[in-house]
Amino acid sequence: MKTYTLAVIRGDGIGPEIVDEAVSVLDRAGALFGFRTAVLPCLLGGCAIDETGAPLPPETVDICKRADAVLLGAVGGGKWDALPGHLRPEAGLLALRAQLGLYANLRPAKIFAPLANASPLRREVIGGLDIMVVRELTGGIYFGERGRREGQHGPEAYDTECYSVMEVERIARVAFESARLRGRHVTSIDKANVLESSRLWREVVHEVAKDYPDVTVVDMLVDNAAMQLIRNPAQFDVVVTSNMFGDILSDEASQITGSIGLLPSASLSGNKLGMYEPIHGSAPDIAGTGKANPIATILSAAMMLRYSFGLEAEANAIESAVDRVLLASHRTADILGESKQKPLTTAEMTEKILQEM
Ligand code: NAD
Repeated sequence: MKTYTLAVIRGDGIGPEIVDEAVSVLDRAGALFGFRTAVLPCLLGGCAIDETGAPLPPETVDICKRADAVLLGAVGGGKWDALPGHLRPEAGLLALRAQLGLYANLRPAKIFAPLANASPLRREVIGGLDIMVVRELTGGIYFGERGRREGQHGPEAYDTECYSVMEVERIARVAFESARLRGRHVTSIDKANVLESSRLWREVVHEVAKDYPDVTVVDMLVDNAAMQLIRNPAQFDVVVTSNMFGDILSDEASQITGSIGLLPSASLSGNKLGMYEPIHGSAPDIAGTGKANPIATILSAAMMLRYSFGLEAEANAIESAVDRVLLASHRTADILGESKQKPLTTAEMTEKILQEM
């Protein structure tokens, strides 16, 4: 029986609660489909600072590099807010992503039909919204040359957007491969009417597209894309874009779904090693109360099966179990809406999902 090794970072706040639930779902999937997962626990963030003095202990990097995939809860909390920037929990997370070479960030934004009322958009506008935002994560303006200098009109500051052909090509391939697992349509978002880096982006995306004749591709300017996401979000399948545009548009897309506790994410490197985590933070306000919704982390585990291990049926089994549980009106407190029913605890929600599987 195949065994996959998982570096498991429980993290801070609700992190440990939701990660343990996701691990139990992976165990159940393994029992049903015939694979094993071996858990390698490691420290990151506030708990790592408390135990070792550093937000990213070197052994965590070693363990993650040795593992087949990384499962992460969330890091951070008020306890560590007063530390200088480079010693804060989030600095550990950014450094880990960089050290693992995770250049592709995949963030699905999907409407769960029974929760359509949670969207700030009208039901007829959102339709069957199901978008995968593929964001370039290690290049572009967040990593370009920056500084301050004396300009013609006094002091000024600058940041530089720079993309190499290699960087665009590899993120485009992630998008096209991802589209093959979904609706076979890619929207490439840029600002090619103004930016030279966007013109290169467009050229390279169209070169890569030649290898994927079964996938359609359209270009869209980022300002139009911001508008189209609100006007007609159902037109999108896979969206591929640069680091900064992706940062903004993935948040916009996730807000359309209206439910932060439900959305997973994956960050991928070139060699199948991926890190999987919910899009939400460590929610210190509800840590230890049993109120945390485990679904975003459970769906992150499903993404791990699909993207790192190629276990499509197994990923589908988890995702459709979540769909059925929501359809049956099982709710944690964050997705109760107007309902007067008693909310499920973190463990009760997981149990419902396990039963459905
Ligand atoms: P947050 O996402 O932790 O919480 C925002 C709100 O959503 C809170 O009211 C919280 O209770 C609720 N919420 C979040 N996840 C939930 C879940 N699974 N179930 C039910 N309710 C949930 O964002 P924040 O409050 O801005 O940040 C809290 C801490 O998390 C900060 O220290 C921040 O730096 C950190 N953070 C970490 C990550 C990460 O580890 N990737 C991401 C974002 C924020």
